[in-house]
Amino acid sequence: MTTTDYDIVIIGGGMVGASLACALADSSLSIAVVEGREPPTEWPEDSFDIRVSAITRASENLFRRLGTWDKMTTLRVQPYEAMEVWDATGSGHIHFDAAELGEPNLGHIIENRVITRALLNRLRSHDNIDYRSPASPKRLLLRSGQAQLQLDDGKLLNARLVVGADGAHSWLRQQAGIEVQERHYRQTAVVTTVQTGQYHQDTAWQRFLPTGPLAFLPLPEGRSAIVWSTSAEEAERLLALDAADFMAELGEAFEHRLGAVTGVGPRGAFPLKGRHAREYVKPHLALVGDAAHTIHPLAGQGVNLGLADVEELASVVLAAHRAQRPVGSFKTLRRYERARRGDNLLMLDAMGAFKALFSNDTPVLRELRNLGLDLTDHAGPLKNLIVARAMGLGSLPGKP
Ligand SMILES: Cc1cc2nc3c(=O)[nH]c(=O)nc-3n(C[C@H](O)[C@H](O)[C@H](O)COP(=O)(O)OP(=O)(O)OC[C@H]3O[C@@H](n4cnc5c(N)ncnc54)[C@H](O)[C@@H]3O)c2cc1C
Repeated sequence: MTTTDYDIVIIGGGMVGASLACALADSSLSIAVVEGREPPTEWPEDSFDIRVSAITRASENLFRRLGTWDKMTTLRVQPYEAMEVWDATGSGHIHFDAAELGEPNLGHIIENRVITRALLNRLRSHDNIDYRSPASPKRLLLRSGQAQLQLDDGKLLNARLVVGADGAHSWLRQQAGIEVQERHYRQTAVVTTVQTGQYHQDTAWQRFLPTGPLAFLPLPEGRSAIVWSTSAEEAERLLALDAADFMAELGEAFEHRLGAVTGVGPRGAFPLKGRHAREYVKPHLALVGDAAHTIHPLAGQGVNLGLADVEELASVVLAAHRAQRPVGSFKTLRRYERARRGDNLLMLDAMGAFKALFSNDTPVLRELRNLGLDLTDHAGPLKNLIVARAMGLGSLPGKP
């Protein structure tokens, strides 16, 4: 049986795992990425991925530093310059505008396959990264001084640090016996891409219905990505509708803000659940991205939180490596956990509260949220604070 030694083995080469590999690569560390599914690298030009992400300024800055942003913009990205949020059961609304903030945009909507392709391109240009795909781990052994993984093809990998970037149902998290706290949102997101009668105005739109939020996110060529969160039964019904009925119901639910829905692509559904790992690290082991936390997509923060994990974990690991300290020691890894756990928990709590507030139709709460939206819309500093957080920044450039 062949055994290969690495400093770091990353399980999962999705958006978060591939970003971590790139962030660690400008060093003498030897790295392996083990990915179960070969991601798509080619697709018909007129097709759109049903999975998209709202990418914040902080994440854009990370992609720039990793040397992947230019490739993403060449492939296809859509900046959004405004955000319009309103409540279906009242008159409350809030509007964010990049121009008012002196920013070129508030972020970008990018197809997940575009992000992954740009990262894999970059990852393959580093000689100290072995990209092993398709491959999956079968067995984990945590020993003093190292972790050992056996892959499904029988190969053995030794690592000083093994990182789980293997998504919401993380194999590594389960093998390590790390428990998760779960929040049942009791919603499923129906996703697709559509064409509308009117141009989307480079704006991200979100209407809060009593059943859940409905988002129209702008894409190139005037298309929009839909994330329609609703009950599981309603999601099943929406998926079963023929295209014409689905477009009619979607247009209605969105108050025809962009005219009629005139075209629709394939539809998919994702059950939504909040999860938070009780521990992010153990000696020689760390979790990042969805393996550590999943969150309701209503504020488009999931992968952005994962990319913030990447920055922090790469920073503590590279600092330890430079100082010739062990990269997988509990002491090193605890720094990462301390820096990230609180921030992620805050966002999980905020999204849970938001979801509860907007899904509740008691008259008092309805009045309160409408008033809250209107007041916030008129409160400059609070609005700046919200938008700075949504862009992944501590504060807006030039503003305290
Ligand atoms: C409907 C919806 C809309 C969303 N919108 C946004 C948004 O606008 N903005 C945002 O920031 N976030 C959004 N998110 C969240 C975002 O999609 C996730 O946070 C993100 O995909 C997490 O990336 P990841 O790399 O951690 O995990 P994943 O994307 O799940 O990637 C995990 C990778 O690991 C691989 N893998 C899994 N198990 C194994 C194994 N045993 N062996 C080898 N490989 C394995 C998988 O093949 C995959 O490539 C949304 C989520 C949903 C459901």
